[in-house]
Amino acid sequence: MIWEELDRRLADLDRQHLRRQRKEVDSPAGPAIMVGGRSLLSFCSNDYLGLAQHPEIVEALVAGARRWGAGSAASALAGGHLRPHEELEQALARFVGMPRALTFATGYLANLAVTPALVGRGDAVFADRLNHASLIDAAQASRAEHRRYPHNDMAALESLLAGSSARRKLILTDAVFSMDGDLAPLDVLFALAERYDAWLVVDDAHGFGVLGEDGRGSLSHFGLPASPRIVLMGTLGKAAGVAGAFVAGDGRMIEWMINSARPYIFTTAPAPALACALLKSLELIEAGSARRAHLHHLVARLRGSLAPLAAGRGWRLADSSTAIQPLVVGENRTVLELAAALEADGLRVPAIRPPTVPRDTARLRISLSAAHNEADVDALVASLSRAR
Ligand SMILES: *Cc1c(COP(=O)(O)O)cnc(C)c1O
Repeated sequence: MIWEELDRRLADLDRQHLRRQRKEVDSPAGPAIMVGGRSLLSFCSNDYLGLAQHPEIVEALVAGARRWGAGSAASALAGGHLRPHEELEQALARFVGMPRALTFATGYLANLAVTPALVGRGDAVFADRLNHASLIDAAQASRAEHRRYPHNDMAALESLLAGSSARRKLILTDAVFSMDGDLAPLDVLFALAERYDAWLVVDDAHGFGVLGEDGRGSLSHFGLPASPRIVLMGTLGKAAGVAGAFVAGDGRMIEWMINSARPYIFTTAPAPALACALLKSLELIEAGSARRAHLHHLVARLRGSLAPLAAGRGWRLADSSTAIQPLVVGENRTVLELAAALEADGLRVPAIRPPTVPRDTARLRISLSAAHNEADVDALVASLSRAR
């Protein structure tokens, strides 16, 4: 039967220690989660500022639903673009210092919209090898030539750009790499985009809310000038604690996306109450310097104790100053055993395996949040030092 092949494929995944399983969480997302009747200290979430449970955001969501209903009932162009959506877009544009912003239901959709809207057949996309899956899919969907350069290798990128005769060029990168936590050199990337007249599309899923002045994100962190060639994507389900995403940049670029981007046009607009919650979240992000300082303090504390431990075990603590602190252990089986040992100790850290990361670089992806405290970080280090 046609489905028998699926049994074989799933068995293959089991053999390679690559089968993924979800575990039902029976509590709100936060540092302490309930799984299978046990309370676990969690290092899995992207809620970097601890806003996902913030009472004022929850209240704004509830009030938004009372005022505007449960759903938007239509795509944005067909009548689903309600006042809260418009207000959110204006607030986002102002916050990131761009002329205009456009909101999406998810970051995955936002990425799928941007690259195919800007380049196509006969054009070229220059992409970091460690880009997020949604950027890879977007480059492929665009039908432009997809040239990938070694991670953060600016010399390699420049030689690809110099050798390209493509009509239009687009440089595509994560700002904070999602499985490594390190930053793209956005200043160098911008200089190259200027020199070769390319678009620079930056996915700031993990920088928005966390990095830069008042959490404005990675562009602000690097002090990049406003430029019509920069297209910024930010997600709203991570540091912002809610859901959705936005693209910000030049007014003509946004206008063109509204008129051409299929992942924008052919989908129902997000619930307006989400936009109400996000307006509150944006205020809290802007006023969140204490949260960011606490997060950065926890990052330094973790690295201070984890670096010597990792060196002694033959693990590699990634070179990251962000909330994403991967501990690369290598083999799939080893990382699963380590994650299981932590779980037995009452801690949840996700084991990340190929194809999410390159072969032989399986890792624990530790992510910290301002909702953690020092004792949480110390408990993680203590458990790792007990694990073998
Ligand atoms: C999470 C993530 C996305 C997708 O965003 P969603 O809103 O979760 O769909 C895109 N890019 C990067 C780098 C991400 O980490």
